[in-house]
Amino acid sequence: MDSQRNGFDSICFALSIVTIVLLVLASVIEDELLRMIPVAIAGGALIYAISRILSTNVAKRRYEADRFSSFFRKDPYRRFKCPKCRTICRVPKGKGKIRIKCPNCGEQFVKRT
Ligand SMILES: [Zn+2]
Repeated sequence: MDSQRNGFDSICFALSIVTIVLLVLASVIEDELLRMIPVAIAGGALIYAISRILSTNVAKRRYEADRFSSFFRKDPYRRFKCPKCRTICRVPKGKGKIRIKCPNCGEQFVKRT
C-alpha cells in the first residue's frame, strides 16, 4: 500500500504560488460574493496540488511536470522572417550580430541574436 508517492513537484510549486496570489487578491476584495471567486479557485488549486503530492502514479505525474516546465523553459532560438521570401529562419540566441542565410531562397541578411 505504501508505494512511492509523487511528492512536491514543479506544478505543486506553481499551484502554491497561484493559491497565495489568489488569497492575497481575495483579501483586498471588498465585495463578499466577489471574494468567493478567487477563494474557490485557490481551494481548487490546493486540492489539485495535494492530489498530485499524494499520487502514486509517479510516471504520469513526472510526465505532466516535464511538460509543464518545458512550457516555461526559455526558447534557445530566435526566429527571423526572410526579407525576401518570408520563410522563418531559426538561429541560436546570444551569438551577437550574425549573417543569416535563408535556407529557402539563399537570401542573406544580418541580424542581432
Ligand atoms: Zn528566403
